[in-house]
Order: sequence, then structure tokens, then C-alpha cells
Amino acid sequence: MFDSLSDRLGSVFDRLRGRGALSEQDVRDAMREVRVALLEADVALPVARRFIDAVTEKAIGQDVLRSVTPGQQVVKIVNDELVDMLGGVETPSLNLEARPPVVIMMVGLQGSGKTTTTAKLGKLLKEKHGKKALMASLDVNRPAAQEQLAILGTQVEVATLPIVQGQQPVDIARRAMESAKLQNVDVLLLDTAGRLHVDEALMAEMKAVAGVSAPTEVLLVVDSLTGQDAVNVAQSFSGEVPLTGVILTRMDGDARGGAALSMRHVTGKPIKFAGTGEKLDAIEVFDPKRVAGRILGMGDVVSLVEKAAETIKHEDAEALAKRMAKGQFDLNDLRTQLQQMQSMGGIGMLAGMLPGMKKAKQAMQASGMDDKVLVHMDAIIGSMTPKERANPALMNAKRKKRVAAGSGTEVQEVNKVLKMHQEMSRAMKQIKKMGGLKGLGALFG
Ligand code: GDP
Repeated sequence: MFDSLSDRLGSVFDRLRGRGALSEQDVRDAMREVRVALLEADVALPVARRFIDAVTEKAIGQDVLRSVTPGQQVVKIVNDELVDMLGGVETPSLNLEARPPVVIMMVGLQGSGKTTTTAKLGKLLKEKHGKKALMASLDVNRPAAQEQLAILGTQVEVATLPIVQGQQPVDIARRAMESAKLQNVDVLLLDTAGRLHVDEALMAEMKAVAGVSAPTEVLLVVDSLTGQDAVNVAQSFSGEVPLTGVILTRMDGDARGGAALSMRHVTGKPIKFAGTGEKLDAIEVFDPKRVAGRILGMGDVVSLVEKAAETIKHEDAEALAKRMAKGQFDLNDLRTQLQQMQSMGGIGMLAGMLPGMKKAKQAMQASGMDDKVLVHMDAIIGSMTPKERANPALMNAKRKKRVAAGSGTEVQEVNKVLKMHQEMSRAMKQIKKMGGLKGLGALFG
């Protein structure tokens, strides 16, 4: 997701950053390119326009152009506007404070991923929030939809409402409410029926179900791969039912990003979660700050560190976070990361999360390399002296030759490792300058 947008923006900003001084015209030219990139990513026209206007005004209005690092500052402004466009600095959450059973109504078109997402949320509520959940399918249109939810319920070990053949959605909703009360359920998830298109009958049904269940959350599930269509669907739904949030599915796919970037503006509602795969734990809180970071190609350091914290020994992670926060990052750190990458699912998993990794991954793929390369890189760094690892600048031609021979590789490969390290440490310094690593240390408390 966001790959091509990210590439386009990356090249615009590389050029901006590469210059010492910027004129108003430079900014306007860059913004013209950003606008095209946004439109190509399927961002709704008014949203793109507003974005460009806001960035341009801030970039040429303040003392940005006269500052020491104008390019850097423009990128920071773009970052902040992106965060805003994606929903703001607050991380969205579910409102679970109402009197139980809190009702979460899931709405959306057929095939959007609604049933799967219902089960993912059930699992999340149980495991991360310690809630007792009950799930009920009100989908009497799609054959076996109710059975599908029952099967998913068994998989995630969340109870589902027993199926009564022939019962209509509103009656199922009533029965689910009663059952939830009787069983002291904290959260009731209602998986409503989908249709292929938004139509009156569907909307009437949604309203009737909302009428009897008084949902605290009405979450619209949309498929991010459908781009502008997803936004249109969201707009039709938000006019009819009181949405409280959106869940974008298939964020693991190669959607161009338009849906995510336009959704907030069009519906006025936050994207609360992102579906990131078919597995039932593939759901993430949609954090605008992180997503903006990903789009700007600075890597999703926070996600990475969180993921790392689950896999990596506490002390290692803490030390790494401290060094990263200080902008120090030597070949020892790179090596630790390479080793951890292997235990965390390899290059594919990490690409795009780690600053500089995306380019490194592309370079690797281009030269036909795969996860085996991690082993080579490890050997290369292993053949360096401690001094060289701490200070990669020492690596002259002679030393490179020695390391290549020592690790059974070629000088070319040694160069690649050094280049990767350079790119990563540069990206980390950038993030540090932008204050993006604040709180990183706190993650490890
Ligand atoms: P519904 O008709 O809206 O209830 O859709 P389903 O929940 O049955 O999902 C349709 C298909 O999309 C299933 O094969 C799901 O596994 C798949 N799916 C749902 N969410 C995601 C996601 O976030 N990523 C991917 N890759 N697949 C998803």
C-alpha cells in the first residue's frame, strides 16, 4: 500500500532536501508534482487541492524558506498535513465506556471484509481489552454468512449467537441484545448484511437494526483496493446511518492509498482500524502519524520497534531504541537488526517499516537476492573489526577487499551493506530532527 505514492513523494523531497536554498517557485513546482502524485494515488480532487493549498501557504508564509534547512522544513509541513488529512494526531479508539453490552454495529458492502473484520475485532476485544464479546450475524442475504461467522467465532474463541433459520435481521438483533444481557457480555458485535451496491433496502435495514440495538459504534468496513469507490460508498453510508468510524481492509494489498487519504475529509469520521491480511490477527489500530511516516518513506519506526519488542530481548531493544533516538546507528546495530529480521519474518515483512529498507529491498530484488542475503550481510559485518563496525567511515578499498575475502563475498556486496547502513542512518537522523522518535524510549518504559 502507498508504494508508488511513497516513491513519487520520495523523489520530489529528495530533490528539495538536496538544495541549500529554496525559492517560492521551487516550493510551488514541488507542490505541483505532489498534487499529481496524490491524484494518481486516487486521492479525491478536493482533498488533494486542500492539501496542496495548506502546505504551500505554510511553506512560503513562514520563515521556512530563509531557514537553514528549508527542504527539511517543507517535508515536516507535508508530514504534519498528511497526519491531519489521515485523521489528526490522536490515535483513534473504540468507545467501550457505555453501559454493557456495548453494541458495535458493522456495516458495509458484500465482500468488503466485514465478517472477517468482525471476527478480528472480537478477538482483539477479548485479547487486548479483556472484554467478553458476543458476535451475531444478521446477514440473511448471503448464503451461509451466519455459518461463516460461527466458524470464525470458533477459530478466535469468541461466542457467536446460535443460528435460528428464517429469522429476520431486526429480530436477530433483538435476540442478540437479550442474550448479551443474560450472559453479561461486555461487547456485542453485530455483523449486518451486505449488498453488492448501496440501495434503499439495505439502508432501511441498517436503520432498523440501529433502532433496536442503539449501537455505540457503527463501523463502516470498506475495501481500500476499491479506491474512489470506497470513498463513494462511505459517503452514501454516512448520509444514512450514524457512522462513528471506518475500517479499511486489504491495506496489505497494493492499493494506491486514495481511500485512506480521502476518507476522513469525505466522511468526517476517523479510520479506526486497518485490516492487513487474511489471518484473524491481521488488524491494526490506524495511527495517522505512523501511516504518514510510511508514506513519506521514513519507515514506520514505531511499528517496527513495537514488533521488535515482541521478538527481541528487552535489553537489546532498549539499547537500540536509545541509540536510534540519539541518531547513533553503527554497523553493530545494523547487524543486530539483520539477525532479528530473520527471526521476524525476513525482508518482505520488514520492508517499508524500516527507514531505508524499502530501497534496499528493491535493490536486492533487482539483483536477484533474497533472504539468503541477510546471512551474507551478517557474515560481512562479522568479518569487520570492532573499530570498523563502530566507525564504517574507516572502510577504504583495502579494508573492503579484506572483509570480502573474509566473508566469502565480493567487494560489491560489502559496498551494499555500507550503503544500506548509510541510508538507514540518514533516514533515522531525519526522523530524529522531525521529533518523530519522541516517546520511542517510553515504549520500553
Ligand atoms: P464480507 O462479505 O464483507 O463479510 O467479506 P468477508 O469477511 O467474507 O471477506 C472476503 C474476503 O476478503 C475473505 O477471503 C477474507 O479473508 C478477505 N479479507 C478480509 N479482510 C482482509 C484484509 O484486510 N486483507 C486481505 N488480504 N484479505 C482480507
